[in-house]
Amino acid sequence: MNSEDVKEGHGGALPSPDLVWENATTPTAARFGDVYYSRDGGLAQSRHVFLAGNDLPNGWQNKETFCVAELGFGTGLNFLATWELWRRTRAPGSRLHYVAAEGFPLTGAELGACLAPWQEMRPRGEALIAVYPEPQRGFHRVFPALAPHERGEVTLTLLYGDAAEMLTQLEAEVDAWFLDGFAPDKNPQMWSPAIFTQMARLSRSGASAATYSVAGDVRRGLDAAGFEVMRAPGFGGKLEMLRARFRGSAARPSALQPWFARAPRAGARGHAAILGAGLAGAHTAAALARHGWTSTIIDRHDAVAGEASGSPRAVMAPRLTAAPAHDGRFYAAGWRFMLDDLARNESRVGRETGGSLQLGMEGGAERLAEIAAAGPLPPGFLMPVDAEQASDIAGVRLTRGGLFFPQGGWIEPHTLCAALAGPSDKRFGTAVVSLVRNGLRWRVQDAAGATIVDADAVVFANALGMKRFTDAAWLPLEGLRGQVTLTATTPTAEALRAALLYGGFVTPAHRGVHAVGATFDAVATDTTNVEVSVEDHPRNFAGLADVAPGLLAPASVIGGFAAVRCMSPDHLPLVGPLPDRGDYVKDFAELRHGHPWARYPNARYQQGLYVLTGLGARGVVSAPLAAELLASHITGAPWPLERDLVNALHPARFLVRELKRRAI
Ligand code: SAM
Repeated sequence: MNSEDVKEGHGGALPSPDLVWENATTPTAARFGDVYYSRDGGLAQSRHVFLAGNDLPNGWQNKETFCVAELGFGTGLNFLATWELWRRTRAPGSRLHYVAAEGFPLTGAELGACLAPWQEMRPRGEALIAVYPEPQRGFHRVFPALAPHERGEVTLTLLYGDAAEMLTQLEAEVDAWFLDGFAPDKNPQMWSPAIFTQMARLSRSGASAATYSVAGDVRRGLDAAGFEVMRAPGFGGKLEMLRARFRGSAARPSALQPWFARAPRAGARGHAAILGAGLAGAHTAAALARHGWTSTIIDRHDAVAGEASGSPRAVMAPRLTAAPAHDGRFYAAGWRFMLDDLARNESRVGRETGGSLQLGMEGGAERLAEIAAAGPLPPGFLMPVDAEQASDIAGVRLTRGGLFFPQGGWIEPHTLCAALAGPSDKRFGTAVVSLVRNGLRWRVQDAAGATIVDADAVVFANALGMKRFTDAAWLPLEGLRGQVTLTATTPTAEALRAALLYGGFVTPAHRGVHAVGATFDAVATDTTNVEVSVEDHPRNFAGLADVAPGLLAPASVIGGFAAVRCMSPDHLPLVGPLPDRGDYVKDFAELRHGHPWARYPNARYQQGLYVLTGLGARGVVSAPLAAELLASHITGAPWPLERDLVNALHPARFLVRELKRRAI
């Protein structure tokens, strides 16, 4: 096998390992000709080689977070054994981050069969299979849990793709490594110098490693990367195994762009002040809570979703691309993450799941067909349909086909915001006017100079409102006024079952009312109250008449909603630490000369200040994963997304582009 095998395609499906059973008891991968776990007992081997070999549970005593990285995930047995031991012995309130690379994922059903011999692991195995992702290339962050209140205690980040390549895309502070590739002679890619170099980059000082293999190349490779290697008694028929400890220091690799360097975390635990109670702020509060932080959400309005997130309906559909572009990949990952996230909030959110149809407009049908062929989402998440099939799905006559998202539909963003923000402390009807440094913390103050809250981190999730703060005012954000029209249903329109997107959108009737949207008009200011304009309603029906002739007409309008959305110049959100603009301009003044990257210092940020904004009209899809990424920046958890996507969302990206073009 060649590791090129796992580098194919845009988000496309990864190859199977070709599972076969040896003597009906031991799972093996025909592709590699090797076993997944020891013939002498898989669980006992996990415990001896990987848990005891990494001195666990001692390693995580008194630690608020602990990060295990495994190469490769296989049947998930090592993961289950680690989770089970951690749950029994962890420090109260702590978090386990488990990162695992896997290039040839087993299916959920195969996982079930491989884990069947261990009855005691059954509930955990089922909890794993319930969140186990489709074999789609890229990072997948999931939260296996035995009970809903445990969700977030354990984060599992599966890096689907070639291990060496996936590790270059990762940022994490690894405490313990499980080296569990197939035997080095059968699977050399899993034991290559490239892997050992990445291990050194990602290791916390003093990190441990363990493996069943004592091959000379493995010993020498670990040693060369800065690990002190020791032999230890092996498991079952094996005389010896290896244990190792990282003695090196993680030098900054020259292949990483210093202007996007990872910011120091604000803390494994802490309290955040979140400015803004829309989708950005509410999702940030929920993500931080999963990671063990508390938050105060502050908003100038008297309730959640006072601005663009207050739209009565949002249609749920990802914005995909045929080529593996950053936006298409981010929205595909965001879509999978959102579906998992919504499943947990289901009962508390106004939502209808009749699916969403993205209809091809003039010239756009070909592009939609290309997207479906490129496979950015697993089968079952996306179906190409012609006009007839689309009409059958929608229940009304449509003139065009396109893409059908069976898990889509519409949602009420404000009930989602309320559900997410529920457990957090909230200060509504309060405008934050200044942020004052207070040692390592920030004092958040109102117009009278009174303290609203002291916080370890402040998150700007207040759209154009952040323009009022000098430290953030330079971020390039545009205001786009949007109006949604509410219209009474008709005997024809009542039959509509799926939400339609065609440039604009229309939702199926709910209590006799459809939402038809939305206008896009650039505005310059950050305004609190946006009036509905009667003249704008007819504009919302123009595109609809083309795809669904006679479905709805402006005559039945009963009301509307208007607000200003916040958009970045490349239409991707801004997510991450707030850059110190002055330092960037000084440190990267020479960028346009194309000097070697190693000449530049690492980027400097406003310690403890973070941004999540620019969600535009797709916040329902992008905010959950964006918030999980932001929480990972704040708490030092492993990144849930590949580096190139994290960089594509980085708040400094426009500044860097500007510096590359000309001196500022
Ligand atoms: N730790 C696993 C468990 O608990 O079941 C068993 C791992 S099995 C011995 C080795 C794993 O490495 C297989 O799942 C295999 O697909 C994966 N693998 C092999 N080559 C790889 C590569 N180049 N990149 C990523 N994963 C790879």
